[in-house]
Amino acid sequence: MSDVEKVFDVAVSARHLHLTQETVDILFGEGHKIEPAQPTKGQYLSTTRATVVGPKHTFTNVAIMGPCRNFNQFELSLTDARTIGMDVPIRMSGDIEGTPGIKIVGTVGEVVLDKGVIVAKRHIHMNPLLAEELGVKDGDSVMMKVESDQRTLIFDDTIVRLSGSPMAKTVSHIDTDEGNAAGVSKRGKGYVVK
Ligand SMILES: [Zn+2]
Repeated sequence: MSDVEKVFDVAVSARHLHLTQETVDILFGEGHKIEPAQPTKGQYLSTTRATVVGPKHTFTNVAIMGPCRNFNQFELSLTDARTIGMDVPIRMSGDIEGTPGIKIVGTVGEVVLDKGVIVAKRHIHMNPLLAEELGVKDGDSVMMKVESDQRTLIFDDTIVRLSGSPMAKTVSHIDTDEGNAAGVSKRGKGYVVK
């Protein structure tokens, strides 16, 4: 495998919600569909937006990711957490036991989640062939170098998530604090360093 193939996209995620269809029904009306802004397969940014109400601040126009999941989760940056006035743990997506909840308001209703607010731990959805090449496995923590003009940065504590298919593109997900720290606004390039 050439060096070029070891370089992957690094995508910056702004604050967003993952919701169950049940929650969507309460917020936006029975049977409301979470539709992608553009036709796509896999996970997408939907056209539906909600309001998230914290103790010190309210975020409006928060993006909802589709398709719906079987749990509710609000992902935000540590800067967002400070703004909204909450202590929020850094967790892998889906690992929400013992995390704080929050109020979400839609067009027709509102819900108060009892858990699900997290700062997402940075991670790489890694192609299994690349993982083999690098000698890493699912759940490993690696160092990832993210390149930019003026703020190239090596992040330690980056979790490897193995993709199921050998055809899957490797992509890293970081949040807006991490993107800002590395000088990447939406999409950059990264690779694993030893
Ligand atoms: Zn991800």
